[in-house]
Amino acid sequence: MIRRRVTVLGATGSVGASTLELMAQAEAGGAGVFEVEALTGGANVARLAEQARRWKPRLAVTADPARLDALREALSGTGIEAAAGEAAVIEAASRPADWIMAAIVGAAGLRSAWAAAATGATLALANKESLVCCGPPLIDRVRRAGGRLIPVDSEHSAIFQVFPHDAPEQVRKLVLTASGGPFRTTPPEALAGITPEQAVAHPNWSMGAKISVDSATMANKGLEVIEAAYLFAMPVDRIDVVVHPESIIHSMVEYIDGSTLAQLGPPDMKTPIACALAWPERIAWPAPKLDLAALGRLTFEAPDEARFPALKLAREALRAGGSAPVVFNAANEVAALAFLDRRLAFLNIAAVVADTLSRVTASGVDSGSRNACDAALAVDAQARREAESIVRGLAAAA
Ligand code: NAD
Ligand code: MG
Repeated sequence: MIRRRVTVLGATGSVGASTLELMAQAEAGGAGVFEVEALTGGANVARLAEQARRWKPRLAVTADPARLDALREALSGTGIEAAAGEAAVIEAASRPADWIMAAIVGAAGLRSAWAAAATGATLALANKESLVCCGPPLIDRVRRAGGRLIPVDSEHSAIFQVFPHDAPEQVRKLVLTASGGPFRTTPPEALAGITPEQAVAHPNWSMGAKISVDSATMANKGLEVIEAAYLFAMPVDRIDVVVHPESIIHSMVEYIDGSTLAQLGPPDMKTPIACALAWPERIAWPAPKLDLAALGRLTFEAPDEARFPALKLAREALRAGGSAPVVFNAANEVAALAFLDRRLAFLNIAAVVADTLSRVTASGVDSGSRNACDAALAVDAQARREAESIVRGLAAAA
């Protein structure tokens, strides 16, 4: 029986809501008992209030200060404290809990992940952008507080499960699998006219809009290479990417003796979330079953780096070091959101990232007078301004 006092940051999103659903399913099956300390959401106050009424957290927070009254009203009579704004999200993340899910999207999740890291709780990290911006200091902060960081991204959860944590020298390579996204086989000439609706329709995974665009450009796999390098202290040249359109093998570790260990499962984020929730134990829930005979075959191919330049750009940013990964991430966020707003063409997403990387001097993310989180966010802000001006320039030229 798994017992946890839980906080979910980004509870109303795809990963956040899956976390709460999984907890409910595990409880219904007698496999777990969960108390909720805090839930945070964004604009969707109705969903947050519904989740809060179900889980009765001590605190419910909307990131949007303009929605505080709506949240208060939706929670009236429940005794649940309602709060709003970034400071309140950080306060939710700072509260004592056994397990904190960081599932806010984008660098907007960094400050709360940073706060959660200092509590000593197990930090289940879905918010890959915070690792990309602040990987080594964030990992170190969790360790120093006596907590544990468990990756939720399916590839990193896979590697985490088959990695020799006590003998990392046994590893020759990490192999990240990639679905290839919705445009793996689209003729190159058709890529120019891709719409946001086409880009968010992922063939295997149901996810939030931003990560769906990232999967379509393969910037997501680029972010994941950086994430893996930090999580498993692996140089960029020892992290391979292989396209595996069925998304059944979630990633692999190749050992020095020629053995490769893989983790498999149907593409459902609840499985890596369940792994993080119970680790080092396991928790039962009505998981979809893997039926390899019905699948028949698993296929693999090399990623097409000409078609998806974002993957190469991410590797270059990681190699450049310093805060180049922060710049990569910020430019990609600006470009992906501009594409979703129909202000930028699909093929220009990677162009904006490349241009921003070449314009913003990659300075070192070190402590100095500021902590690593503040330093990363300062670079993030600078890169965003630059990326926005590049987007505007492209729009004006179009
Ligand atoms: P989503 O868009 O569905 O949800 C994002 C959540 O963050 C929502 O609760 C939203 O209200 C909140 N949020 C957004 N902006 C915020 C802000 N400025 N301040 C505070 N809260 C804010 O996103 P998602 O798909 O659930 O992804 C969440 C994270 O998990 C991302 O970093 C993503 O890369 C990662 N991830 C997601 C999946 C997946 O299957 N969805 C898989 C692997 C990793
Ligand atoms: Mg992933």
